[in-house]
Amino acid sequence: MPSDEAATRRRPRCPRCGSVMAWEGNPHRPFCGLTCRLIDLGSWLDERYRVAGDTLPEEFPSDDRPPRAAD
Ligand SMILES: [Zn+2]
Repeated sequence: MPSDEAATRRRPRCPRCGSVMAWEGNPHRPFCGLTCRLIDLGSWLDERYRVAGDTLPEEFPSDDRPPRAAD
């Protein structure tokens, strides 16, 4: 449907809530507004902190513990 595609291009949807939004003059694009922008930023930061926590070297063996041979 070319006409539907054209309409989508003119009126993109918010990647957060999926609502059709205004693109021209929208300071919060690609989001529909400040709320979705902050929610996305918050989830991004949460993911970032979570990943950073997972990379803490807690699973590595201590200095005086030799790595086990696989047997
Ligand atoms: Zn939104």
